[in-house]
Amino acid sequence: MNTSASIPLQFFAKPKLSDEHGRQAALRRYDIICSDTVHGFDLITTIVKRIFNAEMAAITFIDADTQWVKAPKGIAIDRTDCATAFCNLTIRQTDALTVTDATLDPRFRDNPMVTGPLGLRWYCGMPLTTPDGYNVGSLCVFGTKPSRFELEHIEILADFAALVIDHLELRSLARTDALTGLLSRRAMDEHLTLAISATDRPASLLLMDVDRFKAVNDTYGHPTGDRVLVTLAGILQAHLRPDDQLARYGGEEFAILLPDTSYDDALDIAERLRRVVAAHHLSGPGPERITLSIGVAARRAQGDRMDAWLNAADTALLSAKRSGRNRVCGTPRYPRSATVAQDEKG
Ligand code: GH3
Ligand code: MG
Ligand code: MG
Repeated sequence: MNTSASIPLQFFAKPKLSDEHGRQAALRRYDIICSDTVHGFDLITTIVKRIFNAEMAAITFIDADTQWVKAPKGIAIDRTDCATAFCNLTIRQTDALTVTDATLDPRFRDNPMVTGPLGLRWYCGMPLTTPDGYNVGSLCVFGTKPSRFELEHIEILADFAALVIDHLELRSLARTDALTGLLSRRAMDEHLTLAISATDRPASLLLMDVDRFKAVNDTYGHPTGDRVLVTLAGILQAHLRPDDQLARYGGEEFAILLPDTSYDDALDIAERLRRVVAAHHLSGPGPERITLSIGVAARRAQGDRMDAWLNAADTALLSAKRSGRNRVCGTPRYPRSATVAQDEKG
């Protein structure tokens, strides 16, 4: 007996079901996995749970080996293994995956989600399809008693899945700097907040400001200044590790969050970046070279506040400016708030 049905739905983009590499890159672009709250997600899972009269609902994202669960309702869970995730099958198709009785479905009857304490019996998941056609996750409802589905409800689930993607697209816009394509200040502040809450991991922050940038604009014009900022963003990005986060933090100011990086290592990285930028020969009309002043602060072991950490890096940056520019200064220790003496290097 076939207990599952596929409901065809329309898609605006041609689905890319066999490009797993591209799919994971699309998920990474949303930068959603480690963030805890996304505006609107809780409301969406609450509504679909009610419409389906379901015991549970969630928004899930699937990376290489983990299913990340967001805004769960009726279940307290933040991630599972991909191997047992029903949603891992949902994202391999272009339409809803419906399972009316998992114990009778050969794909799921031996699944620990079904045979284990959760006792999952029914499931309806709609792929979350990006505008460029990648299924990054699923909006799903599920429960422990066998059930059937109304076509109309599944169509509503599809509408809410599209709404989840709309939220993600708008969030991406707010988190991306329009000129350079780097993270925005807002996105960096989210990353700093997360780095502070992970109390057992070291992390360092670099704040960098282009030296005498006003003169670049005054001499060559604002469009050339813009081009220099874009070039600089590319140089910095090219010299960072995949997990480092680079943001345009202000007009000609950049911030880099270095996870798992001690203060001493951060000073070395900052010095390397300073040298690379100073040595770079800019092409086209405009200045031949630009330089950076860089302030470094490592997160305190415990009890840090984001403003204290930022303040420490900013104080170090000011020191770098005052001591001649094109140099790196650091603040090795700082109190929870207020400025402190600096240890300079440059
Ligand atoms: P300092 O070495 O002290 O940092 O000198 P500075 O000239 O860089 O500092 P100042 O803060 O006086 O000037 C920063 C300049 O950056 C002024 C502003 O017009 C320019 N700027 C800020 N945002 C942008 C932008 O998006 N594009 C361009 N072209 N210029 C920008
Ligand atoms: Mg500045
Ligand atoms: Mg400047």
